[in-house]
Amino acid sequence: MSVLVVGGGITGLTAARSLGRDGIPVVLAEAGPRLGGKVSTEHADGFTIEHGPDSFLATRPAGTALVRELGLGEKLVGTAGTRTVYIRVRRRLVPMPEGLGLVLPTRALPFAMSPLFSWPEKLRMAKDLVAPRSMPDEDIAVGVYLRRRLGDPLVERLAGPLVGGVYGTPIDELSLDAVVPTLRTAEREHRSLLLAGLADGRRMRAAAAQRAAANPGAKPLGAFVSLRGGLGWLTSAVAASAALAGVELRTGLGVRSLEPSGAGVVAGFADGTRARFDAVVIATPANAAARLLDDPLPAAARRLDAIPHGTSVLVTLAYPRDRVSRELDGHGYLVPRSEGGPIAACTWSSEKWAGRAPAGTVLLRMFVRDEGEATSLPDAELVAAARADAERTLSIRGEPILVRTARYERAMPRYTVGHLDRVAAVEAAMEAWPAVTLAGASYRGVGLPDCIAQGQAAAARVAGRLAQRDPSDEEELLAAAAGR
Ligand SMILES: Cc1cc2nc3c(=O)[nH]c(=O)nc-3n(C[C@H](O)[C@H](O)[C@H](O)COP(=O)(O)OP(=O)(O)OC[C@H]3O[C@@H](n4cnc5c(N)ncnc54)[C@H](O)[C@@H]3O)c2cc1C
Repeated sequence: MSVLVVGGGITGLTAARSLGRDGIPVVLAEAGPRLGGKVSTEHADGFTIEHGPDSFLATRPAGTALVRELGLGEKLVGTAGTRTVYIRVRRRLVPMPEGLGLVLPTRALPFAMSPLFSWPEKLRMAKDLVAPRSMPDEDIAVGVYLRRRLGDPLVERLAGPLVGGVYGTPIDELSLDAVVPTLRTAEREHRSLLLAGLADGRRMRAAAAQRAAANPGAKPLGAFVSLRGGLGWLTSAVAASAALAGVELRTGLGVRSLEPSGAGVVAGFADGTRARFDAVVIATPANAAARLLDDPLPAAARRLDAIPHGTSVLVTLAYPRDRVSRELDGHGYLVPRSEGGPIAACTWSSEKWAGRAPAGTVLLRMFVRDEGEATSLPDAELVAAARADAERTLSIRGEPILVRTARYERAMPRYTVGHLDRVAAVEAAMEAWPAVTLAGASYRGVGLPDCIAQGQAAAARVAGRLAQRDPSDEEELLAAAAGR
C-alpha cells in the first residue's frame, strides 16, 4: 500500500503526515523548490517577513490543535499593541468602529458614534431593524444581500474592504453560503442583521467572561494567532513530523500525469519517471488538479476548471522608524475601491506582531487589489504603487530599507456565488475514481485551519478506503466513467 500526495502546501503536508502516522508509506511530491506552498516565512536582516498568511483564526480548532500536537503550543502568539484597523476615506485614516464582527457591529454605541458613516447613512442602515426577512433560498453575493439590508456605504467602506479583501474576491461576487453562512442563520433567527450582531456580541462577551473566570490571570491570545517565528515554523514542524513518520518528502518534483492502473494509479513526474501508488491525494489549487485529470476523468477536470482562481500579489516594505511621521497606533489600514489605486490594504506588521522588525524600523505588508489589471502589472510597478500609497498615507520620507514581492499567479481560489454547488459537482464527478482524493483551499475553506482540517479528512478517507477496498469495484467504476 502506498499513497502519493501531490502538493506540499499546508493541506498536502497535513494529509501526508496523518497518513504516515497511520503507518502507510507516503511520497509527497512538491513542484516548487520548497515546502509550505503559500505559507512562506523569510528571516532577513532581523526582519521576519511573511510572504503569505501571517496568522490564522484561533476559533477554528484544527489550527491550534495541530500546533499543540506538534509541541509548538508555547510558541503561539496573539497580536500585539492596539488592535485598531483604519479605513482610508478621502486620504484620511478613520478607525473602524470597535466591536465589529466579520461584517456586523457587535456593540451599538461605537458603531452609532463612528465617523465612518454620516447620520443619513446610519439612518439608512437602521432600516434593517424593521425590514422584513429578505434572504433568498438560493446562494447570493454577500455584497448584494448586505446592500439590500444595510445600504451601499456599509458595503463599500467596511464589508467590501474587510471580507472581499480576505477572500481576494469583489464582495458583489462573493458567495454568502460559502463565506458567511452565519448571515443566513442570523436573518432566520433575528430577522434584523443589526439585532443579530448585537445578540452575537452579548453571547461572545459572556463566553469571554466565563473563560476569564475559569482561568484567572491567563491572558487570552485573541481571535488571530501566529507562531513567534512566523508561520513557516508551522509548515516546517508538520514536514519534520511527517518525515519522522516515514513520509518521503520530495521538492522540485512536479506531477505531470495520473492514469488508472488496476485499482491503483500510475503517476508521471516532471523528471520523466513514473511510479505506481494505491491512492493519490491531490492537494494543489483546483486548476492544477484539473490538468492532472484532463485525460483520466475529463468530467471532473471541467468541473474543477469552473472554480475561478485569482492572482495575489503582496509587497513588503521596511523603513527606518524615524522616517515615518504618522504614529502607527494600530494594525494597519484598508482602502475601499472608491479610493482608487491598486493597493487594497496595508498591514503594520511591526506593530501587529512583537519581534518582527529590528528596533528603530517599521515593517509594512501591502496587498494589491485583484481587480482589473492591477495584479498583471510588473512587480516593479506594483512596488512603486505600494511605496506611493504607504509613503503618502503615513507621511514617510526617504527610501525603504527592504523591499520584497510575493506573487501567487492564478492560485487564489475565488469563492464566487454558487461555489458550494461547484464543489459538490466536483465531488460527485470524483466518485468515479475513488483512488484519487482532492483537498485544499479551492474547496471548503481558504483559511489555514480549514486547509488543515481538509488535509486530515482526506487522509482519513484514503486510510479508510485502503483498509477495506475491493479492487474490482474501482476498475468497474472507472471503466463506467470513461465510457460516459
Ligand atoms: C498573500 C496571502 C495571504 C494570506 N493570508 C492568510 C491568513 O492570514 N490566514 C489564513 O488562514 N490564510 C491566509 N491565506 C490563505 C492560505 O495561505 C491558503 O489558503 C493556504 O495556505 C493554501 O494551502 P494549500 O496547501 O491548500 O495550497 P498551496 O499552499 O497553494 O499549496 C499547493 C502546492 O501544490 C504545489 N503544486 C501545484 N501543482 C503541482 C503539481 N502538478 N505537482 C506537484 N506540486 C504541485 C504548489 O507548488 C504548492 O506548493 C493567505 C494567502 C495568501 C496568498
